[in-house]
Order: sequence, then structure tokens, then C-alpha cells
Amino acid sequence: AAKPVTVTLTGAGGQIGYALLFRIASGQLLGPDVPIRLRMLEIPSGAAAAAGTALELQDCAFPLLHSVDVTTDLAEAFDGTNVALLVGSRPRGPGMERGDLLQANGTIFGPQGAAINEGAADDVRVVVVGNPANTNALIAAAHAPDVPSDRFTALTRLDHNRALGLLAAHLELPVGQLSGVTIWGNHSATQYPDVFHAQANGTPITDLVDEAWLQNEFIPRVAKRGAEIIAVRGGSSVASAANATIDHMRQWVGGTGSGRDGSDRDGVDWTSAAVVSDGSYGVPAGLVSSFPVRSVNGCWEIVQGLAIEEFSRVRIDASVAELIEERDAVRALGLI
Ligand code: NDP
Repeated sequence: AAKPVTVTLTGAGGQIGYALLFRIASGQLLGPDVPIRLRMLEIPSGAAAAAGTALELQDCAFPLLHSVDVTTDLAEAFDGTNVALLVGSRPRGPGMERGDLLQANGTIFGPQGAAINEGAADDVRVVVVGNPANTNALIAAAHAPDVPSDRFTALTRLDHNRALGLLAAHLELPVGQLSGVTIWGNHSATQYPDVFHAQANGTPITDLVDEAWLQNEFIPRVAKRGAEIIAVRGGSSVASAANATIDHMRQWVGGTGSGRDGSDRDGVDWTSAAVVSDGSYGVPAGLVSSFPVRSVNGCWEIVQGLAIEEFSRVRIDASVAELIEERDAVRALGLI
């Protein structure tokens, strides 16, 4: 039998946690043959909700679920962890300035990075979901000097999936016929969903849509989809955020070709993830920024050699400028 894999989830008592945990425990994260040790981290105010979810997990009698621990202790939560899903974060409260938000999250993600550095398994993979996700990942990585920085990522897969879904609906095609979509930059309203390399069954998307639709509808709608969900549903996106988290980690571990949507159509397909930049596409090295990526042998590789038109360049640069500002702000606060 396969060795159990230790999965740590922070914010385990929250909504995204609730949408994630049952999928993880049923085998949708790591496959139907991999037993799972779950570690659920919460802050004291969320511990009861996490404990209640742990009872429900037990009541599902999942054959793969080796053990479940609920804890408020960082060292316990990350001891031996292979997969870390950092969902819990401090949301922006009324009257909170950006500096306050970065400061509040610095005190969450700094110590988590240090605990990962201290106790996690050698093959640890980390994805940050809690916002501001890119900069939270930067902070965590900065506190884990012994962990290769390519093990720290932030989630832009939800933005990627939103782009695919909206494009498929507009073109009246199944999502599976689309490839080559990219989210660049920050997981924020400045993100740039790029279809200039995308195809529908081999036809360039740019032959199928006009620039006015891209500029005035598609790009802002992807970037503001979170607010649209809140307006329509009366609450933020939860199941789709959990789904994207599963997609991101499953393909990171298993390769971009694993799972329902990852077939690599003639080398044009990839997905999007925020990874530590190596300087590709003019994004300053060290920033956690979203790129077109493929997972090869368990590592995210940035897809190279895409031509970037002026239309895309200015939008990528604008989102990267925001990431630079956030990095400079957390540096000034002494958080990295
Ligand atoms: P959710 O589970 O709904 O969301 C968790 C985080 O995910 C939020 O910061 C949210 O950011 C972020 N997020 C990222 N992308 C999305 C998206 N597309 N849609 C929605 N959210 C997204 O929040 P809850 O308040 O229900 O739960 C958070 C839990 O985390 C609480 O139980 C709290 O106690 C816990 N917590 C745990 C910590 C820890 O384990 N150390 C630290 C801090 C909190 P945004 O608000 O910007 O949408």
C-alpha cells in the first residue's frame, strides 16, 4: 500500500476549508490510492468549527483517511507535512488600510513559513489561497530559507478556470476544446487574463472574438468575477475556490496532464499558477507572479518563448507593478 501523505490545511474551520476537506479525504486531491493524514490548523476562534468538521469527516468513513488532527499549534500542524494548503488569512475589515492588511497577514504567513522550514517534509509543496495570496506566499517563502523557493506558490487557478468558463460560454464550446489561456500577475483586480496564445480546437481565439469584447467584457469580467459572485450569490465564491485549489495541487503533484482537464493538446496547453519568478517575461526575479506553467516531474515550469504583444505587455506590467508595490510595502514593514 502507498505511504500516507500528510496534508495540512490552514483556516480549516472556514468556508473554503469545508468545501475542500471532503474532496481531499475522498481522494480527489492525490488520487484514489493515496492514504491521507489530515492536519487542520485554526486560530482559537475557528477551532470549534474545525473540530465539528473533523467529526463529520469521521462520519464519512473515508477509506483513504488515515488520521485527522485539529490543532492551533503551528509546529504540530506542519510537522512532516508534504502538502500545505494555506487558506486561512485575515480579510480586509472596515477602515483597514492596505498596510494594516499586509501587516496582519505578515504575522500569519511569516510564522507559518518558519514552521514549514522547521518541520515540513523535504518534498513539501505549498499553495497560498488566503489573500493577498501572492504577497502572503512571498512572506512565507522568506521565512523558509532551507526550503527551495519554488515550493511556494499562490493560487491563480480560479482566475484561470474563470477565464476558461467565460470563454467557453461566449464561444458556445465545451471548455475541453480550449487551450493556451494564461493569467499573468497578481491575484487581484489588476490580473491579466491573456487569450493571445489561446486556441479553440486549433483555431486562434483572436480569430473568434474581437478586441472590443476582450477589452470591455472578458478581461474586466474575469478580474472582477469574485465581486460578481458576491453580488449574485450573496457571499464570496467558496466551492470554485476549493475546486481550483484541488486542480492546482493535483496537477503540481501529478503533472499537468493529470485529471479531467489537463490533456496537453499539441504542446499548446498549460495552466496558470503564481510561482516565484526567475525573471521570465520581464517579471523581476523573486516576485510571486502568475505565469503560464506546466507541471513536469513534480515541478512547475514556466512556459517559455511566447511572443508578448503591446496590448498584453502594458497589462502584465501594470499587475507586476502592483506586486512590486506590495513587496516594497512588506519589506518596509520588516515582514520579509
Ligand atoms: P474562506 O474560507 O471563505 O476564505 C479564506 C480565504 O481565502 C480568505 O482570506 C479569502 O480572501 C481567500 N480567497 C482567495 N481566493 C478566494 C476566492 N476566489 N473566493 C473566496 N475567497 C478567496 O473564509 P472564512 O472566513 O470562512 O474562513 C477563514 C478561516 O481561516 C476562519 O475559520 C479563520 O478562523 C481561519 N484563520 C486561520 C488562520 C490559521 O490557521 N492560522 C489564520 C487566519 C484565519 P478574501 O477575504 O480576500 O476573499
